[in-house]
Amino acid sequence: MKSGIIYNGPSLLDGQPIVVIATFSNRNTKTGAVVQTYILRSDINPLEASKTGADFSICGDCVMRGEPTTDPKRKITAYSHQSGWRPDIAMQSADNRAQAVAHWKAGRRTFRVIADLGDLDKENEALCPASKEAGRRVQCTACKLCKGSSKGKSIAIVEH
Ligand code: SF4
Repeated sequence: MKSGIIYNGPSLLDGQPIVVIATFSNRNTKTGAVVQTYILRSDINPLEASKTGADFSICGDCVMRGEPTTDPKRKITAYSHQSGWRPDIAMQSADNRAQAVAHWKAGRRTFRVIADLGDLDKENEALCPASKEAGRRVQCTACKLCKGSSKGKSIAIVEH
């Protein structure tokens, strides 16, 4: 078994319904073979939970949590290691060039951490403009290049 639900019930933070999904993979070259868990509201889309603040059920008052907003123009950035998950709104996280190439062939944009600038695939990837190497020209709130879709180059950033 590669994945399974290990908890399905009320949040200990606010009593709302949440689910904990555990997955196992040995494809992550940094961590090696480890179990990863994902904690989600079980009743609403994760992006909706983030935008409305309903993610309090899983994030609590973590300082890294996004700001709830009702502004329809406020966009999000999103990344997923779940291959093929909502490529229309989320970048596909690639841990190496081979994974990125597989996504590109499937018409998906990737976000990849590279060892140095020599690792950048200039034909298919652009350097994150918020990175030190790109001169920290912009922040995600203004850039918003990391929102999936099949158009545009993928994004890479030098490890930091
Ligand atoms: S600055 Fe732009 S390219 Fe870099 S991570 Fe943020 S949204 Fe993505």
